[in-house]
Amino acid sequence: MTGIVVVSHSRALARAAVALAEEMVHGQAVRIEIAAGLDETTFGTDAVRISEAIAAADRGEGTVVLMDLGSAVLSAELALDLLDDEIRSRAVLCAAPLVEGLVVAAVAAAGGASAQEVAAEAGGALAGKQSHFGTPAPALPAGTAAADGLTGEFTVDIPHGLHARPAARLVAQARAFDAQVDVRNRTTGSAWVPASSLSRVATLGALAGHVVEIRASGAQAAEALDHVLALAAHNFGEDMSAPVPAVPAPVATGPGLAGVAASPGIGVGPVWIRAAAAVTIPDVPSLGAAPEWRRLREAIAAVRRVVQRVRVQTARAAGDTDAAIFDAHLLLLDDVDLLGDVRERIESGQAAAPAWAAAIDRIAAEFGALTDPYLQARAADVRAVGDQVLRAVLGENAPAATGSGVLVAADLTPAEAAELDPASVTGVLLAHGSATSHAAILARARGIPAVAGIGAAVLAIPPGTAVALDGSTGEVVVDPPPDVLAAFRDRAAGLARRRDRALAGAGTRAVTQDGTEVLVGANLGSVADAAQAARSGADLAGLVRTEFLFLGRTEAPTVDEQEAVYRKIAEALGGRRITLRTLDAGGDKPLGYVPQPREDNPFLGIRGLRHSLLHPALISGQLLAMVRIARETPVSIMFPMVSTVAEVIAARRLLDTAIALAGSGTPAGLAAGIMVEVPAAALKARALGRHVDFFSIGTNDLTQYTLAAERGNPELATLSDGLDPAVLRLIGMVCREGGVPVSVCGELAADEDATALLTGLGVRELSVSPRAIPLVKDAIRGVDLKAAADLAARALDAAGPAEVRALVGACGPPR
Ligand code: PEP
Ligand code: MG
Repeated sequence: MTGIVVVSHSRALARAAVALAEEMVHGQAVRIEIAAGLDETTFGTDAVRISEAIAAADRGEGTVVLMDLGSAVLSAELALDLLDDEIRSRAVLCAAPLVEGLVVAAVAAAGGASAQEVAAEAGGALAGKQSHFGTPAPALPAGTAAADGLTGEFTVDIPHGLHARPAARLVAQARAFDAQVDVRNRTTGSAWVPASSLSRVATLGALAGHVVEIRASGAQAAEALDHVLALAAHNFGEDMSAPVPAVPAPVATGPGLAGVAASPGIGVGPVWIRAAAAVTIPDVPSLGAAPEWRRLREAIAAVRRVVQRVRVQTARAAGDTDAAIFDAHLLLLDDVDLLGDVRERIESGQAAAPAWAAAIDRIAAEFGALTDPYLQARAADVRAVGDQVLRAVLGENAPAATGSGVLVAADLTPAEAAELDPASVTGVLLAHGSATSHAAILARARGIPAVAGIGAAVLAIPPGTAVALDGSTGEVVVDPPPDVLAAFRDRAAGLARRRDRALAGAGTRAVTQDGTEVLVGANLGSVADAAQAARSGADLAGLVRTEFLFLGRTEAPTVDEQEAVYRKIAEALGGRRITLRTLDAGGDKPLGYVPQPREDNPFLGIRGLRHSLLHPALISGQLLAMVRIARETPVSIMFPMVSTVAEVIAARRLLDTAIALAGSGTPAGLAAGIMVEVPAAALKARALGRHVDFFSIGTNDLTQYTLAAERGNPELATLSDGLDPAVLRLIGMVCREGGVPVSVCGELAADEDATALLTGLGVRELSVSPRAIPLVKDAIRGVDLKAAADLAARALDAAGPAEVRALVGACGPPR
């Protein structure tokens, strides 16, 4: 039978399309493999995975490959290059639209059609729809600008302009639609460029305040335009509240050196030089267009795997925002403009390496010619990725980044910076780069002090020379005299003492100065998080966001599956209490397999417990799995988004049923509580407290609902501050009137400015991300409850969050 392979940017989309196709063949056997998404939720396509899927689908009678958009096609072409000649000769890439084509292909394959016949059938899959609407939609010639499309515009509000990360988001989103989307910088009068090409978009030089015009045409033009404009309204997901490091003037320092502060902290140590190893391109003739192109695509695929690995590691160590730097690199690797240029050069007789190098030079030069220093600095990123590919083409290894002390280098690629080991690298001095370079961002994420932009003189420091640097001021002293060195060491020691003390005390209880224990739990969103929480000294899991089990799939997990995952979390925490929150779906987190009507205001809609009570089968299965685990380990079950007593009574009834179904009575360690995320719940704490064993305050939502300030909207970040006295008053009311223990599990729990206030208001448990546990425990140990209660009382009368922070500051920083 002919096999079918579905290549899509979205795994969920591919699964749903396959389910639809299987439905159409009424139980007849059909072999369909999926190569979609980079993981359950990340959009992207991977040529290696596609080649594996083709090999798996091929049973000797060939395969038909259906793709969604843009780079899916390029990845599928590359996948062919990676296959055995025999399997490749039987694979057909089919231009049919994904959903219609798949349905038709499945029916044809199930009926015994050959690969060519299946592809031909699928190719005509739109005929029915076209004849229904009378005229077939004219196809846009590939690569043609969408001259007659819908138009719109937005003003760039991001301080650094449409730089690599937001540009990457724009490109990734624009590519996801079946539309030709073009953009241009109206302020500078630039030419139109395709929004699907990162290299073209980034060279628009769109700075803060510039007006960018968009035009879109094709089947999904309206959707694409709406989506990009909505994205722009949210600054392409940039965290506008994060402090943008200023680019200070270079500080004159030791003999002839000057630097800019790039990553705070004190670094002292012997210099270790990392020579910039330029790649030399050998003067070799082309082996022919096909083998040279294939060699390049293999090199790109290899680099893509490396970048993906570094991205995952960075996300784990520093969070997704910093890791998103690598998205721009991934997009560059399948940039249509870049690849088109390379291909032309290869076809005109150049070998892969010089063709690639010339195309990269062209793009890097375009960045270098921009007036904005931030965008200019992106030329270095282009060259870094370019060099990685070049080395892969030439079969060279990148120079190893091992050494200890203060690393001195011309610059570091993001991949090199992401792999620095903070245990051995005490500081970084860079000849080039700036506070906004990716090397600086990643040094900050890894906690390594750094000074950048010092100039070539730094490269002349002999290896082994002692240097001292302050990454907060840009100060660099070469071969410091003993008194200067001692002063640097004192500064470093003070900072390190607190960090070490926190880490050393992470595994012990956090007790205030006057002897009251405050539990510090972990917020978890995966089994891996649970292991990290245990290592970081978590006293319990204070919030397990169980949505991770339910989102990004085509059907709900079974009770057994849920039970197995909860058991793994409990095992990782070694018998410590786990607080399992029931599904917080709906609203902004819709489940693909539970139909939900469109809501004008999803945050005020059917979410959390409201959603669960409307879909009792879903929550009943979840409660059963939770009760089963509660027979083995202490479990707290927590219901999210509660606003009324009636909801709690209904939820407890469902829990009673689950307990009865599980058998052997109520487990001894089982507790049931609710999240306080809605002001109404805080205001009714006394009434609600009669029905629960505990409250856990979700300050993320409580703050957004109290201040009517959407939590993800960076424009409202200053307004949406959990230290607003209104939020503190609600927390105080829950502690005073609820009559049951109160924990806080929103972001506020990890804010060290809030530790004394929250404990002063009566909170006795904080739940934070695993990484934050040691410092939060350390901050608790500095609290005097009597002084904290006085501070809290004054904070309740403060005018706003800034005044609250000033009060906290006046009481002294964390020890
Ligand atoms: C909260 O709202 O503070 C909370 C912890 O829940 P989530 O962030 O998952 O909505
Ligand atoms: Mg919440």
